[in-house]
Amino acid sequence: MTLVKYLKSTDLKSWLAELAEKNSVFAPRYEGDSVIFAPFDPEQEIYTKSAATVPPKKTVFPQSEKLVDFTYHKDPENPGKTLIDGKEVLPQGTTVVFGGRPCDVRGFSMFDRVYLTKETTDIYYKARRDNTSFITIACEFTESTCFCHWVGSSPSDPIGSDVLAVPVKGGFLLTAVSARGETLLTSKLLLEGKPKVEEAEEVLDKVMENLGKAPDLSKSPGKLLEVFDNMEFWEKVSAKCISCGTCTYLCPTCYCFNITDEIQGLKGSRIRSWDNCMSALFTMEASGHNPRPTKAHRLKNRVGHKFSYYPDLHDGIISCYGCGRCIKSCPAGVDIREIVLKAIEFMPTVVEE
Ligand code: SF4
Ligand code: SF4
Repeated sequence: MTLVKYLKSTDLKSWLAELAEKNSVFAPRYEGDSVIFAPFDPEQEIYTKSAATVPPKKTVFPQSEKLVDFTYHKDPENPGKTLIDGKEVLPQGTTVVFGGRPCDVRGFSMFDRVYLTKETTDIYYKARRDNTSFITIACEFTESTCFCHWVGSSPSDPIGSDVLAVPVKGGFLLTAVSARGETLLTSKLLLEGKPKVEEAEEVLDKVMENLGKAPDLSKSPGKLLEVFDNMEFWEKVSAKCISCGTCTYLCPTCYCFNITDEIQGLKGSRIRSWDNCMSALFTMEASGHNPRPTKAHRLKNRVGHKFSYYPDLHDGIISCYGCGRCIKSCPAGVDIREIVLKAIEFMPTVVEE
């Protein structure tokens, strides 16, 4: 039987404080004009009204993380030779992330197919992924930029979550989605949830009605390949882009990174940091050649990867969950939905003989 509990909004901070006794807890709150995920602080207001400006990506895949500490030293047997001793710096402890949205949390399933495969396991990603639980808030309202229902998801998609919280009058109905979620719902602060189930269902039905009908994107992988070499198409759709990279940094499914070594004397650290394919330097080769020399090439890669190449490699799954952040926060008004629909509708010009 599914475990359901009711949490009064007035008890939210106390519940998170209990969870914070044994875990690092992250929750959304305002910082300046943006809503970000930050370590839980009972003195700060928790923001639960809509999706945060920034997804909780960094809780599992930090913006910048130390992978290895290393030291250079001379080989005593051969003083002309330099040896390196390295030690992995693996993340420790357990984390609970409260307040992500279904599109945010499902985003990690994209990472899993790349970082946790039969051939390759990213030990840093795995250590955090295995030790992070998600208490996700289903969306009660959607914004004009939301399109999760276009890409096989929904405002209450439970994939990747441990607990799904549906906003109801005075609080949240909490449903355990995984065994780990059940262990998060043992607090005495939580009340019996069954009397609130019907109200929660009504909330979710209403939000689905408001989303309206989704277009069929099943042709996007093939259609984007058809326009692959049509640079006129890509120049038109990328004309407004200023290559700022905001779209990739805010995307819950973008997982590219760069590696740098920071060295002081004989000691150093290897650091992994987010990188972004909208930057001209991302594909710059040491020779100076750049296979993606213009913003048109780079936007083609970003859209093509999410709606064509990734689905081709991963059972047709589109690597965008329709959170709409790249649309909402793009300073130039580039809309990924328009580009995909234009590619699907694209008809090559027939040249009369
Ligand atoms: S956020 Fe907009 S302007 Fe910035 S790189 Fe992305 S598409 Fe271009
Ligand atoms: S591509 Fe845009 S809409 Fe899709 S998941 Fe990334 S930020 Fe969200």
